[in-house]
Amino acid sequence: MSILSRRDVVASAGLAAAFGLASRVVHIAPAHAQKTPGPAQLLHKYKVGTFECTAVYDGIWEKPHDPAFIKNAGLDDVKGALKAAGLTDEFVPIPFTPLLVDTGRDLVLFDAGTGGQVQPTAGKLLDNMKAGGIDPAKITKVMISHFHPDHIFGLMEKGTNAQVFPNAEIVVSAAEYKFWTNPAVITGLPEARRPLANRIQATFPTWKNMRQIEGEAEVAPGIRTVAAPGHTPGHIAFHLASGNAQMIYSGDTFYQPALSLKTPQWHGAFDQDGPLAERSRRALADRIITDKIMLSGYHFPWPGAGMLAKDGPGYALTSI
Ligand SMILES: [Zn+2]
Repeated sequence: MSILSRRDVVASAGLAAAFGLASRVVHIAPAHAQKTPGPAQLLHKYKVGTFECTAVYDGIWEKPHDPAFIKNAGLDDVKGALKAAGLTDEFVPIPFTPLLVDTGRDLVLFDAGTGGQVQPTAGKLLDNMKAGGIDPAKITKVMISHFHPDHIFGLMEKGTNAQVFPNAEIVVSAAEYKFWTNPAVITGLPEARRPLANRIQATFPTWKNMRQIEGEAEVAPGIRTVAAPGHTPGHIAFHLASGNAQMIYSGDTFYQPALSLKTPQWHGAFDQDGPLAERSRRALADRIITDKIMLSGYHFPWPGAGMLAKDGPGYALTSI
C-alpha cells in the first residue's frame, strides 16, 4: 500500500514535529498516540521446509478514513468490512511486517520497512531485528515488491539517502525500475507522488548493488519472482520453495485482508491500475489455494502469514 497522499504528507510532517518536540515538551497530542497495541513478541519465527522465516514488526499505520480509499466502495462498506473482520472501524489498520528468511545460503529481507520515514508509528524494523539478535549487516539480499515508500524508504537513511544495506544485493523488478526512473514519469504523476519519484531517481541509479529482474526468474536458490502488476506497473511477488514446502510473499498484491481478500473486486486508491491489480490478486490467490501454498503479506495482521481459503466470492486468511 502506498502511503503518501498529499494530506498524509502534511499530517506526517505535523506528526513528526509533534514527535520531535516530544523529548523536550513531553507531550504528544492524544490524536497522534498509537491506539493499536504492538505484538507481545516483535519477532515471530516459523519454517517453510528448511527455510527459517522471521516476521519482524516495523509498526502500523492507523490510516484515517478517506471516502476515496476504496475507489468502488463507500466508506460505510469499508467500515462494515473492518467490523465484520473483528477490527476497529475507527481507522484502517495497516501494519508493516517485513519478512526475513534464512535459506541456509542467504539471509533475505522481503521489503525494507518504512525506515521511520512514512508514519511516526512505524520504523522499528532494525531495532527489533537487533533486539532479537539478528545483525542487519548479515542480510545478503533485499527483495523489493514495488517502489512505494513503505517498502523502500527502509533502504535509505533519512536526510542523507545513504544506503542502509550497502552490502546486500537489492533485487527489484526491471519494469518497476523503468517506470519510476523515467524522467518523464514525474510530470505525469499526481503531485503527491512526485517527491517519491524524485527520491528514487536521485538514489537507485547510483547504487551498484541493485539487480533488475526481467519477467519471472530465480533470484536466489529456492526463491523466484512472480509477476503481479497493477498495484504498481512492475509490482512483483516472490515464490519460496524448500523441499515440498512453498510460500508466496505477496507484497501488496493483497493489503488489508478484511478489504482486499474478502472483497478482491475492491480497488484501493493506491492500486495504480485497479482492474489489473484485481486480476493479479485473483490469479495469485487461486494459485495459492490450488497448490496449498502458505502466504505471507506485508500488510497482513501479525505475524503476517497464514493459509488462504475461498470465502464466498472472495478469500479468507487463516493466521498461523
Ligand atoms: Zn504497502
